[in-house]
Amino acid sequence: MNYTSLLEWHTAHKEQALYGRYLTINQLQPLLDRIPDLFVKESLGYSVQNRPIYKVTFGTGEIKILGWSQMHGNESTTTKALFDLFKWFEANKDTEIGQKLLSTFNFTFIPMLNPDGAEAYTRVNANQVDLNRDAQELTQPESLILKQVYTSLDPDYCLNLHGQRTIFGVGEPAQSAVASFLSPSQDALRTVTQSRKEGMAIIAELNEMLQEFIPGQVGRYDDGFNINCVGDTLQQLNIPTILFEAGHFPNDYAREKTRGFMFLSLIRVFESILLLKSEENVSSNPYFAIPENKKCFFDCIIRNINLPEYGVTDMAIQYQETLRDGILYFVPKIAQIADLDSFVGHSEIDFAQEKIEFPENFTLDVGQNLENLQVNSNLPTTFSVKSNNLL
Ligand SMILES: [Zn+2]
Repeated sequence: MNYTSLLEWHTAHKEQALYGRYLTINQLQPLLDRIPDLFVKESLGYSVQNRPIYKVTFGTGEIKILGWSQMHGNESTTTKALFDLFKWFEANKDTEIGQKLLSTFNFTFIPMLNPDGAEAYTRVNANQVDLNRDAQELTQPESLILKQVYTSLDPDYCLNLHGQRTIFGVGEPAQSAVASFLSPSQDALRTVTQSRKEGMAIIAELNEMLQEFIPGQVGRYDDGFNINCVGDTLQQLNIPTILFEAGHFPNDYAREKTRGFMFLSLIRVFESILLLKSEENVSSNPYFAIPENKKCFFDCIIRNINLPEYGVTDMAIQYQETLRDGILYFVPKIAQIADLDSFVGHSEIDFAQEKIEFPENFTLDVGQNLENLQVNSNLPTTFSVKSNNLL
């Protein structure tokens, strides 16, 4: 597969009805209602607040793949990539590669496992439960639906599709972690079992493919074992499971660039399975060569700012994604006031030469909302402390 051409296809033909970060079941419903005959759409049941949860199945092959997205309601990038994948399969069902994949695999995707969280733009479901910590207790209807699907399907591979915050970086000097992956542990010792190894080998292939597009911006997620996580639970059932974390590409708060890389990664997973099936031994070494994610980024760092009560210091600003009347805003809040030499800002401003006049009796504190802050007008325009709809 030529991934440069595939990315060009994606840019031109991705599902135009979906855009940005706030993605609800109401936006998916018309696409699901008119999904082409290649696919079968079925309702699996309902969320806490009675929103439908669907699965989409296609392919006639023997290797069963199960993937689910938006288990965390505010992680929509991989959902967009799934609908792009459906479009790609429809457009390529008669091509050689399309036929090969459709006759090799049996695909089951749950595009939105947590429609209530999606509506409210929260990680958790309507009962404030993190579904990715509910794999054992199964207290929530969404958790039961997922379990019912993987129990009855008995998949050969699972794709646990998520998105990560802007705080993650990789490498030295750090770059933004645009995409991160994990082959979860299945025991506390993090033993490299056969199914973990298969996941690792696929991730190594994903990394190699992505390096061409986002060099040094692919990370490996922390593999601490937690049996309450769905990935760890599935891995313990000896089902190779891959965690996708769609991350931040510079200035791409809508995650449209990352959406393309997630789309490429999905196709690469399928190709890799075909490839690795023909190899006798797979190595976990290239996986461990991928740098680990670290928390080293902020949305904005203002360096050498002379603040009342602090003197000259650095200030980190993190956007808090906030839903207001159905529109997602990125509200700037102070995340840290300290020497931030070991951190990187997605945007940075050096105020060493700027004199700032703050209002009288002005104070600043960590957690403070800066959206209504008015300071003197000589500031660079990039230091906009108004709330932005960055999408
Ligand atoms: Zn997540």
